[in-house]
Amino acid sequence: MSDEYILEVRNLRQYFPIRSGFLQRVVGQIKAVDGVSFAVKHNEVLGLGGESGCGKTTVGRTVLRLYDPTAGEIWYRTRSGERVNVAQLPPGELKPLRREMRMIFQDPFSSLNPRRTVKELIGEPLQIHRVARGRVLEERVAQLMTEVGLDPAYMERYPHEFSGGQRQRIGIARTLSLSPRLIIADEPVSALDVSVQAQVLNLLQSLKDEFGLTLLFIAHDLSVVEHISDRIAVMYVGKIVEMAPAEELLLRPLHPYAEALVSAVPPADPDIQTRRIILEGDVPSPANPPAGCVFPPRCRYANSGSCRTVEPPLQELEPGHFVACHLAKELHLAGIGG
Ligand code: SF4
Repeated sequence: MSDEYILEVRNLRQYFPIRSGFLQRVVGQIKAVDGVSFAVKHNEVLGLGGESGCGKTTVGRTVLRLYDPTAGEIWYRTRSGERVNVAQLPPGELKPLRREMRMIFQDPFSSLNPRRTVKELIGEPLQIHRVARGRVLEERVAQLMTEVGLDPAYMERYPHEFSGGQRQRIGIARTLSLSPRLIIADEPVSALDVSVQAQVLNLLQSLKDEFGLTLLFIAHDLSVVEHISDRIAVMYVGKIVEMAPAEELLLRPLHPYAEALVSAVPPADPDIQTRRIILEGDVPSPANPPAGCVFPPRCRYANSGSCRTVEPPLQELEPGHFVACHLAKELHLAGIGG
């Protein structure tokens, strides 16, 4: 892992046991994340997209060690330059990292304790980590509220007195309170009105630039992901099936699943006619994925040979453009507005 990277995830697996019967014996495994690898540079935004249930949120939570990974490595470069494998750290050694690696949660309605004031909510991480208290804490909360576009005069108010967008700003201020370096943003705008989504995305972008943050940005909607991401990784049934610079993935997807997601992204020019690809068929169960590629039941290009028998590896077909599809070189897939 070279110095330019802050995070490198190698072959990450996160399996959850399926239990059954009176004795709750383990009868299977849900392979929520199954061999995922990627790296994120300092001050980069890597978007993680894909339908609900594809494993992207589990990746984010496992990187933060909210789940103990089944297998794999999570290399993180700390503020002091040390390289640590978060996957192997004993619980007692995770606390200092919790200041550097923070999460923004999806739902600003349920992630904030309704009985606490904004000052208490934003100030709580500062107290837990013994960073500030008293007047200093209050000044820091006021500063954070200003940074996320909230009036510090409202710090004694409760979450229900704010709109959805303002509540997500409170959540962002809480996340920023410990001056993190890496933020996992898990569907941070999906619970918000479309008109508010752009405001929160613009706020995240400007905070990222101002504070030199690195983001792993998770969202099911590719039009949201592309708004903020430098690169995009598309997940399907626990695996990354394509990863590329954001613009390239939108203009020239190489994987049929990414092509379908891209077809749902509205082009910037409203005069361009779009041809939406509707995926038919069921998503395979992560408890029992197909033997070959995971996509044949829904892939309109699938053959009856290698697609169904050999798992396609994630390969770098062009510089920085990775894809897991046997036919990627032959298919000429449509990009945005195509
Ligand atoms: Fe479709 Fe075959 Fe490519 Fe899988 S390997 S995405 S089934 S064409």
